[in-house]
Amino acid sequence: MASSGEPISSPSNLPSSLPAKSDQIHVFWHEGMLEHDTGKGVFDTGMNPGFLDVLDKHPENSDRVKNMVSILKKGPIAPFISWHQGRPSLISELLYFHTQDYINELVEADKNGGKLICAGTFLNPGSWDAALLAAGTTLSAMQYILDGHGKIAYALVRPPGHHAQPTQADGYCFLNNAGLAVQLGLDSRFKKVAVIDIDVHYGNGTAEGFYCSDRVLTISLHMNHGSWGPSHPQTGSVDELGEGGGFGYNLNIPLPNGTGDRGYAYAMAKLVVPSVEKFEPDMIVLVVGQDSSAFDPNGRQCLTMEGYREIGHKVRKMADKYCDGRILIVQEGGYHVTYSAYCLHATLEGVLNIPYPLISDPIAYYPEDEAFTTEVVESMKRYQMDKCD
Ligand SMILES: [Zn+2]
Repeated sequence: MASSGEPISSPSNLPSSLPAKSDQIHVFWHEGMLEHDTGKGVFDTGMNPGFLDVLDKHPENSDRVKNMVSILKKGPIAPFISWHQGRPSLISELLYFHTQDYINELVEADKNGGKLICAGTFLNPGSWDAALLAAGTTLSAMQYILDGHGKIAYALVRPPGHHAQPTQADGYCFLNNAGLAVQLGLDSRFKKVAVIDIDVHYGNGTAEGFYCSDRVLTISLHMNHGSWGPSHPQTGSVDELGEGGGFGYNLNIPLPNGTGDRGYAYAMAKLVVPSVEKFEPDMIVLVVGQDSSAFDPNGRQCLTMEGYREIGHKVRKMADKYCDGRILIVQEGGYHVTYSAYCLHATLEGVLNIPYPLISDPIAYYPEDEAFTTEVVESMKRYQMDKCD
């Protein structure tokens, strides 16, 4: 077991190998996003069966994000973070990704006092304003990079977005924050954007939005959960490769339960890195969810801080090679209220290329066996080469 979660003191010879203070992560955040109140029930159902004394807060609650803000302000990574105020998006900006009819439906639902849009996805009073803040804050983060003010920006936002499709809310998501930012990038000066989604669930909304495009390579590493009903018809399987001109530009990597740090590293090395190399994007969007962690109530993929750190590091390496170091990081799921914040800290340490862990893992433990994952990744690699080369 790793120990305390206390900051690790720097080895004496290392201050010079830390990134320069100029190598900052620009965090975009607005506390109005805390006003999205998802309620209580049996896990994410919003249902009170009447025979339990204690109900769960909905997993997508504001506590998780409060801790993310807190660890970035108080943790050892704080000197590398600069804070920027988010903003609400304009309705016209939502049309970068969503249809007018869909937006009208959400506006109407909000006016009528809110509603349950699909399983677990509650638009309550205050939710729509928070959703507009999440979208606008992510757009501001992308704009900051587009304007050349910084290379690495992180949109610390909720409600999450990667399940929201152009015409459909899904999986706690109303507006596709990352998708909106990608389209802003494409409409401005980026020719090709790669999206790498490591949330434990399939980034079906983002994939759907760019399914016919050869300008966006959407890659999603996720638990092999399949379709989960009418709001999420996509399966996330390896044969969803894109359509028309976009064929070959959607890479799904459904990983076995319990994949773990070494299994993710293997999938990154064998599938993600070669695809990004082939695509040569001029911008990378890293869609992060800490629900791939070993302790998340919504996932079974068993990453620890070390695995997140390694992914952050690999993404930075690709960004340095192809994108002049430009990375937009967008927050999605991550439902363990304390460990999610630690995993975020580790991911950003990796992105900053910090050569040793700044903070120890308070709870990491998983008996890892990557043999099955290796086999699955190899078979996906063969499939990809067969279909797309
Ligand atoms: Zn998720």
